[in-house]
Amino acid sequence: MPDECVFCRIAQRQLPVELLYEDAEFVAFNDANPMAPVHVLVIPKTHFASLLDAADSGLVGRGLLAVTETARSLKLDASGFRVVVNCGADGGQTVPHLHFHLMGGRYMQWPPG
Ligand code: AMP
Ligand code: ZN
Repeated sequence: MPDECVFCRIAQRQLPVELLYEDAEFVAFNDANPMAPVHVLVIPKTHFASLLDAADSGLVGRGLLAVTETARSLKLDASGFRVVVNCGADGGQTVPHLHFHLMGGRYMQWPPG
């Protein structure tokens, strides 16, 4: 776990962030700069810099299940939601710890910017 990784620090409960979901491998919390009425980040507790480093496809699949569990708990299952994984520079990734954006509460435009 890189000491300087803010998402590792959140996952290790070293920062006072309210968790919306937690299981053995993942936690979810509100994005600090929300782009939708609901904008939650779901992250693995283990550090992976990006989707490219998450060679364990099982972990990625379980991450998506954690996202859907979180979406259900936030009552987004009826209205729908979007899941985004930004990867690398052109993908717009700014925090180098794998995370799933769960966004909802409004109609999500397509294509994204
Ligand atoms: P990305 O651009 O895909 O890497 O997304 C990083 C996201 O993390 C952005 O939406 C930021 O608003 C969010 N973010 C950065 N630092 C924090 C933090 N300490 N707590 C919550 N969200 C954060
Ligand atoms: Zn990390």
